[in-house]
Amino acid sequence: MKENNLHIQNTLSRKKEKFEPLAPPFVGLYVCGPTVYSPPHLGNVRTFLAFDIVNRYLRYLGYRVRYVRNITDVGHIANSEGEEVDRIGEQAKKENLEPMEIVQKYTLDFHEVTHIFNMLPPDIEPTATGHIPEQIEMVDRILKNGFAYERNGSVYFNIPEFAKTHDYGKLSGQNIEEQHEGYRELDAQDEKHDVRDFAIWKFTDETHPMRWNSPWGEGVPGWHLECSVMSTKYLGQKFDIHGGGMDLKFPHHECEIAQSLGADGTEPVRYWMHSNMLTMNGQKMSKSFGNSILPRELVSGEHELLDQGYSPMTIRFFMLQAHYSSPLDLSNEALKAAEKGYKRLMEAYKVIQTMPLRDAKNVTDTDKEVNDTIDGIFVEMDDDFNTPKALAHIFELVTVINSYRDNRPEYAGVSKATMERLREVFTATINDILGLKVEETADDNTVDGLMQLIIDIRQNARANKDWTTSDLIRDQLDALELQLKDGKDGTTWTRK
Ligand code: AMP
Ligand code: ZN
Repeated sequence: MKENNLHIQNTLSRKKEKFEPLAPPFVGLYVCGPTVYSPPHLGNVRTFLAFDIVNRYLRYLGYRVRYVRNITDVGHIANSEGEEVDRIGEQAKKENLEPMEIVQKYTLDFHEVTHIFNMLPPDIEPTATGHIPEQIEMVDRILKNGFAYERNGSVYFNIPEFAKTHDYGKLSGQNIEEQHEGYRELDAQDEKHDVRDFAIWKFTDETHPMRWNSPWGEGVPGWHLECSVMSTKYLGQKFDIHGGGMDLKFPHHECEIAQSLGADGTEPVRYWMHSNMLTMNGQKMSKSFGNSILPRELVSGEHELLDQGYSPMTIRFFMLQAHYSSPLDLSNEALKAAEKGYKRLMEAYKVIQTMPLRDAKNVTDTDKEVNDTIDGIFVEMDDDFNTPKALAHIFELVTVINSYRDNRPEYAGVSKATMERLREVFTATINDILGLKVEETADDNTVDGLMQLIIDIRQNARANKDWTTSDLIRDQLDALELQLKDGKDGTTWTRK
């Protein structure tokens, strides 16, 4: 196990806390997965990427992580107005498909997207439909404890009753009275006693294709229930980290806490983590706002708001340039800058893999500076997974790599051992922690081949003292911002 001083911003305490796993080396990580009724948009990608970094860094530190990320394939999803919508059922009607066909279609889509963006798969990916008996049992316990009531075959969590003895709203920092605001008024048809009450079991009639038998008649579980059930089933009554996008803090996660306390008198989660939203022109990216960009649109560039396409790793790099808890705005300018930065990074990555390392005659202070920069990566990752600051150190190392390759005298005093360490850490940070990889396209291979041809022609020209041809090659490459470097081991090329 590597030494670590990892601090995580716990949403519940609003403080950065030193992370100590409950049962080391085992770390339980639960992340709310997608509702599979539409293809994931880039906002969803941002959140899953944030927790991919958490998963990857914990593993890098030597922990054994059990990463559970669910698939919401049934349930009435409460929106921020307190209304409950059957998104999968509605989409099935729109596409004239069975709900389970919708679920299958968009689960496959989701897996493809996580694969394209090089996210590690979860260790367990449970579905809500696979855990109906456990959800029914939990409803039953909540009812028995007096925190829920039944009405016409549906069961509602009783917030006013719960709030008499518990602090409902503590995760999102809202007081119970404020929660009335923003909610629509109840009308005569409403079964709820209070607008803040939420369904934990919902009656569905025979026209509804997804329904299960229960002590209260046929119906479906409420959305918040699945995460309470599945997180504790696979991670235990008390587990380390629960994550999700910031928009899930309320009501979803607040309701999870209420359900666990209501059913079992326990709060299972030790660290709550919430990732911030991806915005587009300042507005949260969301299907319902009509400003969502699908990953494949961003890659192909086929979207009215995009000037061009960007590779998946460029997009991943772009997202890592912001801290997960800060908002991030998507724009053409920012993506273009990310494209440049990413290329520069990966060129240095390729160089360090094969660059010959030299023994230093006199080790100078620069050697210590390089080691401090390497250490800086971990200092920043330990500080609540600060990827933008870790990347800043990595770019300092890019300068070191390029200068060392060019035999710049300032770096003559860096020892071979330090350069070996740099190679090892740089490679592990890029591949294992940040999950970035070289994107070899057919184009790249062709360019490499053509550049080798040009280098050979120039070599011949020089051997024949044909300076006109060799100068012409150099000037033309210069105009294309490509640079040749003559070294002991032959000529190489880089982009400027
Ligand atoms: P959903 O499928 O809508 O339940 O969302 C799946 C995950 O994506 C949840 O954790 C959401 O909080 C998150 N999410 C949704 N929209 C955005 C956004 N614009 N930026 C970041 N995360 C988002
Ligand atoms: Zn959830």
